[in-house]
Amino acid sequence: MSQKVIVIGGGNAALSSAIESAENGDDVTLLEAAPSSLRGGNSKYTRDIRYAHDEDEFTSGSYTKNELRKDLLSVSGNFENVEVAELVIERSQEMARWMQWHNITFKKGIKGTLNLSRTNAFFMGGGKVLTDNYYDLINKLKVKVLYGAPIISVNIANDAVKGLTALIKNEKNQFTADKYIFASGGYEANKDWLSQFWGEGVKNIKIRGSMFNTGLPLKSLIGNNVLMCGVEKAGHMVAVDSRSPEYDAGIVSRIDAIPWGIVVNKNGERFYDEGEDIWPKRYAIWGRLVAEQQSQTAYAIVDNKTIEKFMPTAYPSIDANSIDKLAAKIGLKAPELSNLISTFNAGITKTGEDVTEWSNHQLGIPKSHWAIPIDTPPFHAYPLSPGLTFTYQGIRINRTGRIELKDGELENGFAAGEIASGNVLRSGYLAGFGLTIGTTLGRLAGGWENE
Ligand SMILES: Cc1cc2nc3c(=O)[nH]c(=O)nc-3n(C[C@H](O)[C@H](O)[C@H](O)COP(=O)(O)OP(=O)(O)OC[C@H]3O[C@@H](n4cnc5c(N)ncnc54)[C@H](O)[C@@H]3O)c2cc1C
Repeated sequence: MSQKVIVIGGGNAALSSAIESAENGDDVTLLEAAPSSLRGGNSKYTRDIRYAHDEDEFTSGSYTKNELRKDLLSVSGNFENVEVAELVIERSQEMARWMQWHNITFKKGIKGTLNLSRTNAFFMGGGKVLTDNYYDLINKLKVKVLYGAPIISVNIANDAVKGLTALIKNEKNQFTADKYIFASGGYEANKDWLSQFWGEGVKNIKIRGSMFNTGLPLKSLIGNNVLMCGVEKAGHMVAVDSRSPEYDAGIVSRIDAIPWGIVVNKNGERFYDEGEDIWPKRYAIWGRLVAEQQSQTAYAIVDNKTIEKFMPTAYPSIDANSIDKLAAKIGLKAPELSNLISTFNAGITKTGEDVTEWSNHQLGIPKSHWAIPIDTPPFHAYPLSPGLTFTYQGIRINRTGRIELKDGELENGFAAGEIASGNVLRSGYLAGFGLTIGTTLGRLAGGWENE
């Protein structure tokens, strides 16, 4: 039976549920906080998906459900909601094919520091084309889209959503429907909320994704007896170039120079092993490490022989022909930095030809892999800031996609995507899995079960 459905959000999860609902014959309205030029949330910055699969034409080999489960557990420790996590793993298997049927074209894996070609499929044009293609499709499916329509509060009574309030052109507008799907992302762009954990330092945190993800629907749901999941302070945070914009810094802001050189704080001191493990397993710890330094600032320093070894950067490096001059350019004390780099170079143990095995255990903080001498001018520095990708805490759902209450469930309230990712990933992150959570749970909320 056709029902009136409102989808809150305009990224991958919202679009997946709008497509599924509209294909089921529902009368769908999508309310997107952003104007049309900035639509698509964090999803517009993505480039790949991770899913369990046999050998297929999108990837370089098979990736079993068991492997995917093991990888998820290795980053998250345990599943907060085993039922939902298992459902996402199971249904990830048909995701790439479903996307292909719905206007998405895949390409061969790209080269870079994160080699994911077996486990992940890369789509043509990245997230911008992905979301644009889905918007074209929902237009054909007669979904009504309202831009610049942020939901500011949710009215819940007797275990059901009774209505929503949106602020459109500074006026409050009420919306009602038979069914509501919350796909409004996390609260990473809400600096007031973040300041509860980061205090004053919040002003130095760059938001890699959409400035519209302020978590207002989530906040309203929290105030309405809804069950939470995931860790409130936790978020995915990488080291980005300090010169990046405060919001919407995107993927190009990330600095992957770290394992190839050393990282120092404002006092010119190293504070963590830059070569602790392979980079794909470590890149996401560096945002938090930088956030813990004075002024939330640090510097990655490499020499000229490694400058082309990592993903190209959006901003040019700061260069000098001597370490003293480099120190002066980035505001560090020259004798301390020169001394540190001389000591670093002198203590390196080169085991064989493979630089991944070169190490330095003579220092207070070791560099356990990639300890390559920093001795070839010009020398290069990148100023680093914490770059928050998304927050982890969200809403608990059940295997029908319905939002759970402290004592029951919302009969007509569903959640999908980042707002519900805590069900699967309570604290860590696995590259390419954000879209998987959004697509599978978005389709579930949209009525996949009815097929
Ligand atoms: C730089 C970057 C690169 C990434 N790369 C990848 C990748 O390659 N692969 C991957 O799987 N994941 C990646 N991620 C993570 C991925 O973007 C998210 O996990 C995923 O896009 C979440 O989808 P979503 O639909 O839940 O949220 P979003 O895409 O963030 O969408 C949320 C939507 O809700 C809207 N909204 C917010 N508040 C309101 C409100 N009050 N009322 C109405 N609408 C509202 C927003 O405007 C937005 O349209 C990346 C993230 C970033 C920032």
